Amino acid sequence: MIEIDGSFGEGGGQILRSSLALSLCTGQPFRINKIRAGRDKPGLMRQHLTAVQAAARIGSAGAEGANIGSTELVFTPGKVIPGDYQFAVGTAGSATLVLQTVLPALLTAPGPSRLVLEGGTHNPFAPPFDFLDKAFLPLVNRMGPRVTATLDRPGFYPAGGGRFTVEIKPAKGLAGFELLERGAVVSRRARAAVANLPRQIAERELRVVERRLGWPRECLVVEEAQGSPGPGNIVTIELAHANVTEVFTGFGERFRSAEAVAEAAVEECRRYLGGAAPVGEYLTDQILLPLALAGAGTFRSVGLSRHATTHMDLIAKFLGARVTTKPAGSHADGTIVSIAAS
Ligand code: ATP
Repeated sequence: MIEIDGSFGEGGGQILRSSLALSLCTGQPFRINKIRAGRDKPGLMRQHLTAVQAAARIGSAGAEGANIGSTELVFTPGKVIPGDYQFAVGTAGSATLVLQTVLPALLTAPGPSRLVLEGGTHNPFAPPFDFLDKAFLPLVNRMGPRVTATLDRPGFYPAGGGRFTVEIKPAKGLAGFELLERGAVVSRRARAAVANLPRQIAERELRVVERRLGWPRECLVVEEAQGSPGPGNIVTIELAHANVTEVFTGFGERFRSAEAVAEAAVEECRRYLGGAAPVGEYLTDQILLPLALAGAGTFRSVGLSRHATTHMDLIAKFLGARVTTKPAGSHADGTIVSIAAS
């Protein structure tokens, strides 16, 4: 039984989700305590509980302590069964984080899967659907499986109610990759989307992007999103290079001006453009786990967040895989991250 201190490192929901993912992939049970101890509302929230339940269903697992507010969980995985599943968070909690939990095990499962996930699709502090679709999944697909995601309708905080579908054609095993350079710019696009809100908000946002990034009009797209149960607004800046696509996001919220929303996405994008490393902060922590499962791989990251270093510790615990890091040169050149099987 692997013992996990949930308050360790980043100390949030990610330790739990990654432990679930690694447990499903390795068949090793684990016990976690002090779940999200450092957060305002500690313990399992709706999104985390849905992730536990989803993992338990897919992995024929036992899950003691799977209740809202629980700070301790014992997870005992069985056989991973691919197939058709539907998981609903039931609040605006992030549905993309539920996918993050169950996807790794299904990438090498003995058959294809189709997942329908409901909840928030564009939440602050979680991967928005567009990041998943354009930045994360293309790297996963480079490892052998074929995963596609389709947004059925967006869901924003606080109404939630979004839905997306993921089709997974697994591979026999995962192949690692090397990603050290971005390559040439292939495309640039900034999209301001509004759901049940005036189009004018999106137009104001794109004016900020135009002024601050100097991108031509044809790179700027206003979208009036259909089907969202509640209001919502998001600015997504998508920068595709030959070897990697990065997505920078500004999240609209009440009492935050359209200009501030756009500025947040622009700032992130400018920081990325100011360096040369291909893999941004969020992509770094999210790609570590699949690469560790592949047992090999090297990439150059803009830098390591606490999410990333916490991930490295968990990977060592479950897989024994070694993740090593070294500066790529000057600070602006980033950090080389390498994974080798133990
Ligand atoms: P908490 O316990 O803090 O409530 P949580 O379960 O909501 O945690 P975290 O543990 O903070 O979530 O994990 C958030 C995940 O979302 C990380 O993998 C991070 O990379 C990802 N993420 C956050 N913001 C973005 C973003 N703008 N784009 C892409 N990914 C993001």
